[in-house]
Amino acid sequence: MTTAAIIVAAGRGTRAGGPLPKQWQAVAGKPVARWTLERFAAMDQLVLVIHPDDRARAEALCEGLNVRIVPGGAERASSVLAGLEALTDTPPERVLIHDVARPCVSAEIISAVLTALQTSSGAAPALPVTDALWTGDNGQVTGTQDRGGLFRAQTPQGFRYPEILAAHRAHPGGAADDVEVARAAGLDIAIVAGEESNLKITGPDDFARAAQYLESAMDIRLGNGYDVHRFGDGDHVVLCGVQIPFERGLSGHSDADVGMHAVTDAIYGALAQGDIGQHFPPSDPQWKGAESHFFLRHAVELAHKMGYGIGNVDCTLVCERPKIGPHAQAMRAEMARIMGLQVGQVSVKATTSERLGFTGREEGIAAIATATLVAT
Ligand code: MG
Repeated sequence: MTTAAIIVAAGRGTRAGGPLPKQWQAVAGKPVARWTLERFAAMDQLVLVIHPDDRARAEALCEGLNVRIVPGGAERASSVLAGLEALTDTPPERVLIHDVARPCVSAEIISAVLTALQTSSGAAPALPVTDALWTGDNGQVTGTQDRGGLFRAQTPQGFRYPEILAAHRAHPGGAADDVEVARAAGLDIAIVAGEESNLKITGPDDFARAAQYLESAMDIRLGNGYDVHRFGDGDHVVLCGVQIPFERGLSGHSDADVGMHAVTDAIYGALAQGDIGQHFPPSDPQWKGAESHFFLRHAVELAHKMGYGIGNVDCTLVCERPKIGPHAQAMRAEMARIMGLQVGQVSVKATTSERLGFTGREEGIAAIATATLVAT
């Protein structure tokens, strides 16, 4: 089943205070819209519907994410329709429509909506109303209202794509949300459990509440790796995936890429999943002469399987020679390519050991590395 997410961010709402529409303001270190987009990064397609004036801001914000930016309309419903129409060339089977101002939405809610879509035309999260309800006028209570059967609607609201597209095309306008549009077309909508944390940032206080949820949920792991290979016969070394002509080679069971091994071990370390030797035993002849990108990719894939993305890696090579500086950019680019990261997430640097110790005597090369992993 293919799934698209449409993030509706065309509003100009400044009720939240501050100089910018709320979706571009920062909360817990990054813009609200970035948090929200990252929640849906695993979908097959991601559409961000914006006000046309916000294009430059939106493009900068989407860096590193595969997002289609679509100009919206004057009303929420016309913005949603613009997002739906943008998918007609590559139609998904299901679509999730989500308010940009709900950056704390959990993976559990998203998966509950998708699960409910297996048996219902539509599904959306909601919370039962628990406070007593009054009617009032002029500062006076004029009556009470039965709260039985009342729910506070949240997003993402999920639908089968062809049905919600047809429903939006046919709707005369003025709907409060996409569930109303869907119901007008006769679709059944299942209610799944919402969460208090899935709040919609509306007023200034909501930024503080959202920041609390986002910061408490931040799951970051840190790992280190260290590796050494001795010099042997040869006419080149391979360091961080880059072949450098040299008067000697590095000896080892694999291609002896000491830098890539240290980075790989840093990722395994962050996952508390042992080290490279445990996953690829040197006693096993099938790894003899293996290219180290195989190990690194395995570590990255293991991280993904365990629910983590790589935040950044930093590798320091320790040697007198060869000179690393002229190759450092190529090393960053190659490691970023292997790991599926931006070059800006990968650092490679070098130092000598002031002619001290085994690296100073040019008996071998050492590498240390650090990796951060961020829960996705
Ligand atoms: Mg090694």
